Amino acid sequence: MVKVGVVGLQGDVEEHIGAATKALKNLGVSGEVLWLRKPAQLEGVSAVIIPGGESTTISRLMVKNGLLDPLRKLGGEGLPIMGTCAGLIMLSREVIGATPEQRFLGLLDVRVNRNAYGRQVDSFEAPVRLSFSDEPFPGVFIRAPRIVETLSDEVRPIAWLGDRVVGVEEGNVIGLEFHPELTDDTRVHEYFLEKAI
Ligand code: GLN
Repeated sequence: MVKVGVVGLQGDVEEHIGAATKALKNLGVSGEVLWLRKPAQLEGVSAVIIPGGESTTISRLMVKNGLLDPLRKLGGEGLPIMGTCAGLIMLSREVIGATPEQRFLGLLDVRVNRNAYGRQVDSFEAPVRLSFSDEPFPGVFIRAPRIVETLSDEVRPIAWLGDRVVGVEEGNVIGLEFHPELTDDTRVHEYFLEKAI
């Protein structure tokens, strides 16, 4: 049985729980999706999602709740982890515009710019091309970070907005600038959860 943990400290946690639950159903896999708050809940977990929200708050609460170090360790050992928006920031190796107290998992060899989009375009929806599907995906961008550089050949693009990379994977880790959990389309969650089954 697949056990998916959604880091539930701040941000759009419920939306990810809903999307992951639906994705497991579509994949025909029995599993549970839990609201992950404490390190003890990581026991037996098969995949973890870090939601969008506000990355300084998520960072602070992940440190406070003792989730940051265990997640870094498990991610390094191959646990599938997907981060969307603020979750992408949490996963990144280098973050432009971070506050001094912000901590990161450093599991994804990319440099992101935390607040890259100007005010006028801070939220928009646009079709995203995926490496693993022929149909465009509705990309919801909300004050999104921008992947400005990849820092390792292991990082593979999986999503594009025009010719710009907006989603990457590095082995077991996926980071996305946009919010697949805010659409009814579960293709991205299914792609991610296939890593765990
Ligand atoms: N730019 C925001 C941050 O730094 C992330 C926005 C989001 O997750 N929608 O946390």
